[in-house]
Amino acid sequence: MNNAEQIVKETVQHWRENLNRLNWYLCLESDVRRYFFHSPKSDVEKRVRWALYDLVADALEKGQVGLGKDGINWDAERKPIQFAVIHHSGTNPNISISCLSAMGLLRLYTPVYLNQKEYPEAYGQPIYSHHWRDNEQVFYAYHWLIRPDGTMERLLEDHQIGWHCGSWTINCASVGICLAGNYSSKEPTSSALRSLNKLFKTYPTVKAVPHRAVNRRIQCPGSWSATESCNHHDGDH
Ligand SMILES: [Zn+2]
Repeated sequence: MNNAEQIVKETVQHWRENLNRLNWYLCLESDVRRYFFHSPKSDVEKRVRWALYDLVADALEKGQVGLGKDGINWDAERKPIQFAVIHHSGTNPNISISCLSAMGLLRLYTPVYLNQKEYPEAYGQPIYSHHWRDNEQVFYAYHWLIRPDGTMERLLEDHQIGWHCGSWTINCASVGICLAGNYSSKEPTSSALRSLNKLFKTYPTVKAVPHRAVNRRIQCPGSWSATESCNHHDGDH
């Protein structure tokens, strides 16, 4: 076993031993910060990150992650929907929805629960999303997922706030639509774009914006013209 494999194995083992504790993210804080608060700095970090996504996805499915059964109602500030923010997952297009839930938990929820200064009411508490599906708590960032073959899957309900775009104000007033796959350097399939249009027609008063228009430091969902693909349905956006 080489050094990288050893690090992956030991880290996964350490997480497996702690993940069912209600304060697992405090026990594992240094790892959480190292692997999920910024992009991986090395190939080893990338491998550990994905091994942990897989571990946490599996543990979420089996109800083996320590989570709150009750807690803050993060949806209390939901506003009428004004925007549909378009994302890509930046991953393999076949990524499982439990892996997307694990990614949301580790990259979106832990930074809030570890931030004593800005979220004193959440800090140190068992993590709680207020979002449930089939009796399991879920941490999806998006309301909809579209696969390359055009299949659409609902992840969050519209009355729920998805933590998808980095701006709480816009999260409160938007739905997040994610194209599964990485479209940094290629266009989504025509089937995916057809579904995106079809979906968008179900939100007739809503303006479509690519994620990169909300946060100009990022490329999501790639450089293809996401809004052109969405806003032409009635020509008045
Ligand atoms: Zn995005």
